[in-house]
Amino acid sequence: MSLPDFDFVAAKSLKEASDLARERGNRCVFMAGGTDIIPLLKDNLLKGIDTVIGLECIPELDKLEFADGEGLRIGALTKLHSIQNSPLVKEKMPAVAQAAHYVASSQIRRKGTMAGNISNASPSADTASILLAMNASVKTYASGGGRTIPIGNFFTGVKKTCLEKDKGEIVTEIDIPELKPGEGSAYYKHAVRKAMDLAIIGVAAWVKMAGRKVGDCRIAMGGVGVTPLRAFNAEKLLKGAEITDELLEEAGVAASGECHPISDVRASAEYRADMVRVYTKRAIKTALETMKA
Ligand SMILES: Cc1cc2nc3c(=O)[nH]c(=O)nc-3n(C[C@H](O)[C@H](O)[C@H](O)COP(=O)(O)OP(=O)(O)OC[C@H]3O[C@@H](n4cnc5c(N)ncnc54)[C@H](O)[C@@H]3O)c2cc1C
Repeated sequence: MSLPDFDFVAAKSLKEASDLARERGNRCVFMAGGTDIIPLLKDNLLKGIDTVIGLECIPELDKLEFADGEGLRIGALTKLHSIQNSPLVKEKMPAVAQAAHYVASSQIRRKGTMAGNISNASPSADTASILLAMNASVKTYASGGGRTIPIGNFFTGVKKTCLEKDKGEIVTEIDIPELKPGEGSAYYKHAVRKAMDLAIIGVAAWVKMAGRKVGDCRIAMGGVGVTPLRAFNAEKLLKGAEITDELLEEAGVAASGECHPISDVRASAEYRADMVRVYTKRAIKTALETMKA
């Protein structure tokens, strides 16, 4: 399929991009790497869009920094390939590098961004679950002032976020808090193929130990609801308890009970729920095994 006609504007600044987005409203979309937008345009699935606002010429959006005591700052134009291969990310937050690596293929990761991955708001987006488990936040620029959005408030539905179109709101940065001693995290994707395949389900875990007991934890699940979901009941079971195989199984069962999967060509709802049980256990175990000393 060929691309439909549209105006392409390569914005040179956040203000230019945001002002134009406010002016064109629902007739425009932002584009970072274009790996979601271009196929949608080709398939004529973006009805009424006559303007694509390119963000790639806004230099301050391309950054990958780590601040001791704070954490990782990932600019909205930073490619998934850079995140996956950054020695800094691999050392400080291996699960984030792993989640970036799980997206699509090497070619797509060289164009695609984490900001695009979450702004596209697919319930199975690979980076969404780890960001939820690690309590990330999303910084934005908008007319009248930007804001910091806790990732748990960012997704509002299938392909929907809380970004305000009428304010020309743009994601500028994703911030992930530093892993402290006694904390670990992990992300697992379950898909039929190893590459170029969307997740049937994905599970991420962040665990903080207090002595021999779990001091705190967050479990996030992708592909089993209209947005990525937290497994609050499973988290409650784990908090304050010593990890045993029986407890991990109970947490897995609890997580599978609180997801809302659908059946489609890729898997049945029952299979998805059972895979959540299996991968919840795996993600918690790996988070513990890779914990910061
Ligand atoms: C063949 C194929 C396989 C794929 N496999 C996977 C997979 O395995 N796992 C997975 O998670 N994804 C997969 N994807 C989806 C895609 O590659 C990712 O979602 C990618 O991370 C999107 O980033 P991008 O920069 O290309 O976004 P774009 O296509 O540029 O934008 C995506 C959406 O985000 C919005 N957007 C982008 N940047 C901003 C910003 N700064 N502020 C506000 N809104 C913004 C755009 O308007 C658009 O709605 C696949 C895609 C393809 C084509």
